[in-house]
Amino acid sequence: MTNKKQIAVLAGDYIGPEIMSAGLKVLEAVSKNNQFDYEINAVPFGGAAIDETGDPLPDSTLEACKNSDAVLLAAVGGPKWDHAVKRPEQGLLEIRKDLNLFANIRPTVISSATKEYSPIKITDPVDFVIVRELTSGIYFGQPREKTSTMAIDTMRYTANEIERVAKVAFEMASHRRNHVTLVDKANVLATSKFWREITEGVAKNYPEVEYDTSYVDTASMKIISSPAQFDVILTENLFGDILSDEAAQITGSLGTIPSMSKGKTGPALYEPIHGSAPDIAGKKIADPISMIKSVAMMLENSFGRGDMAIQINQAIDEVYKKGILTPDLGGSSSTEEVTNLIIKSIQESS
Ligand code: ATP
Ligand code: MG
Repeated sequence: MTNKKQIAVLAGDYIGPEIMSAGLKVLEAVSKNNQFDYEINAVPFGGAAIDETGDPLPDSTLEACKNSDAVLLAAVGGPKWDHAVKRPEQGLLEIRKDLNLFANIRPTVISSATKEYSPIKITDPVDFVIVRELTSGIYFGQPREKTSTMAIDTMRYTANEIERVAKVAFEMASHRRNHVTLVDKANVLATSKFWREITEGVAKNYPEVEYDTSYVDTASMKIISSPAQFDVILTENLFGDILSDEAAQITGSLGTIPSMSKGKTGPALYEPIHGSAPDIAGKKIADPISMIKSVAMMLENSFGRGDMAIQINQAIDEVYKKGILTPDLGGSSSTEEVTNLIIKSIQESS
């Protein structure tokens, strides 16, 4: 065994490989500066894996992921596989389940360098994360039924499912600004009342973390009207799905936002929040920032290298300041130009 960090790389489809290549170049540059030793294991996944093997998540790919310290993934899927027996997105659901990735974390960051790209007026810097429960709730609960006269979905949570994701939120807050807001609908839903009970219990173990609650309707307004007040938002699957897309909008571009999905043990998975963008694939204009920030998030959270993540994020602020940006942010630069400038500014900062 080597003590080099093992990173499984799933490059994905359409713009996936374009932005993955950008992310890996930045990883290489920042690692050289910081004596960080790693090994890449690139394996097929999604549409690319269907073409090779017929299966979006071949056993060998799953094995490689399980044996790694972290998984980097770019977007998968697209029209080419719309009629495949097993679609690429199925692979995504399977990998989350097989790695038991029950917590999905999405950051929303708007700094002084990026605030002019936001569709809302930003007075104070925004920096919060949404910790969304990913593997339970109404998307999975039984019974689920539809007849011609009625339909039913079931929102169901166990104490263990809530407790483990609440711990992720409080743990994150204790490395951030010590504030967790549980978002729910406890004035109406039994599951939300239960979330409050269990989360209060977890909060007792983190006395330094301020804990409050907000109804989801109120929280969805505050994400627009006063986003700076949030640090860590903890919420269940359905609310998290909706709120995290709302939060993405206030940053200005889908092409800049990373995410992390993690379980209790085993490798976490890092990926951009957007899809494979077939409309711009091959045009060399995909925004690489979402992937590069996914690399930064991996360095900080899986490898304890917050210092390297800061170097990457500062270099990203530089491209904003210089206006060297891809068309999604109103610029006219290519994926490669943006990536090269980020690398140059990392090299100059050391
Ligand atoms: P999915 O169903 O896979 O989530 P989607 O329909 O939500 O896909 P995306 O692929 O996320 O769509 O893209 C939505 C729009 O945002 C597209 O016009 C796409 O070109 C653009 N987009 C997404 N990611 C990027 C990126 N990294 N750089 C530039 N534009 C992007
Ligand atoms: Mg989408």
